[in-house]
Amino acid sequence: MDCIFCKIAEGAIPSSKVYEDDDMLAFRDINPQAPVHVLVIPKKHIASADEINETNSAAVAKIFEKIPHIAKLGGAVNGYRIISNCGPDACQSVPHLHFHILGGKQLPESMG
Ligand code: 5GP
Ligand code: ZN
Repeated sequence: MDCIFCKIAEGAIPSSKVYEDDDMLAFRDINPQAPVHVLVIPKKHIASADEINETNSAAVAKIFEKIPHIAKLGGAVNGYRIISNCGPDACQSVPHLHFHILGGKQLPESMG
């Protein structure tokens, strides 16, 4: 499958890694929208939040268990926002489930 985030997860495309284990990879966004902008992905391909089901949801739970640690490693010391864009109306541009962790500044109140 021609998926850029699968290639990043395999190490075939380099990334600025923040955290990695058997199930997930966290790396810095190439086009950061905040001083801290980390993406967290499951290593196994899931296309979007719309594809989460009882078979693959353990990978998502593991990501959320690690997000407090990843956010601190990434430098978000005063709070952070977690975003997952899902589908065209949300402008999802990479069809591999990812959670944006944004922080390092006062973020705008508006979310959409
Ligand atoms: P989306 O728009 O799907 O919610 O988010 C995709 C994100 O992936 C964007 O913020 C974009 O900057 C980031 N991105 C796309 N390609 C790459 C890449 O090759 N490396 C890294 N580190 N980030 C990428
Ligand atoms: Zn993928």
